[in-house]
Amino acid sequence: MSEPQLVYKSKINKIRGFALSLIFIGIAVMYGGILTKKIPWLMVTFFTIGVLFVILSTVVYFWIGLLSTKAIPIICPSCEKPTKMLGRVDACMHCKQPLTLDKELEGKEFDEKYNTRKYRRQSEEQRKQ
Ligand SMILES: [Zn+2]
Repeated sequence: MSEPQLVYKSKINKIRGFALSLIFIGIAVMYGGILTKKIPWLMVTFFTIGVLFVILSTVVYFWIGLLSTKAIPIICPSCEKPTKMLGRVDACMHCKQPLTLDKELEGKEFDEKYNTRKYRRQSEEQRKQ
């Protein structure tokens, strides 16, 4: 029996999943519009909300594009495939291996908190002492 492993998603994959779910919500809401076509104002409301979701998803996809240009391309040490990292800690896109760019965090347990400003400030203060 292998121990249950915590699975971390790469940030870019996470945002992509979010954008994809927005499209599905948009389509579902527009489908609600078709179901209520007997009530014109309700149908228009559903369609407008649906279109807004799809637009939002396009914006999120655009944002991923921007983030990808800022992400650092690396070769995953675990599966040896090229992946991209966002922030100080991230997970491999292919094998979900937690990765870090910070030598200080090597060997430590993967935690999203290492990306927050608060943590960064704390570790800087610790260094000064
Ligand atoms: Zn990998």
